Amino acid sequence: MLKDHIKTVYEETLKCIRCGFCEIHCPTLLETDYNRLYGPRGRVQIVKGILEGEFKPTIYTLKTMYTCLLCNACYVACPAGVDVQFIIRTFRTLLRSGVVKGLKF
Ligand code: SF4
Ligand code: SF4
Repeated sequence: MLKDHIKTVYEETLKCIRCGFCEIHCPTLLETDYNRLYGPRGRVQIVKGILEGEFKPTIYTLKTMYTCLLCNACYVACPAGVDVQFIIRTFRTLLRSGVVKGLKF
């Protein structure tokens, strides 16, 4: 079941073409003076990088994931139809379940 979640989330991240059209619509990106780690493109690339084993999740991963408002404003603006709030919501579940290792508290 969780492996299915990982596959589904990963496949959703692959849809991102990194165009950045979503960013101006993201309230948390604007609130953090355009710190891209707190925007949809950054969040998607963080999830993708972790699932590919490129890097391990840290406390900053939690901050990035749990500051997303799941508002869907990015989805409306995305030409590739990336469901960012789905990615974030499911990735939170994966983090909580311990399937994704390497958090440094
Ligand atoms: S989430 Fe969509 S709009 Fe944002 S960078 Fe990726 S493809 Fe572009
Ligand atoms: S769902 Fe999250 S990433 Fe997308 S616009 Fe809302 S706060 Fe930003």
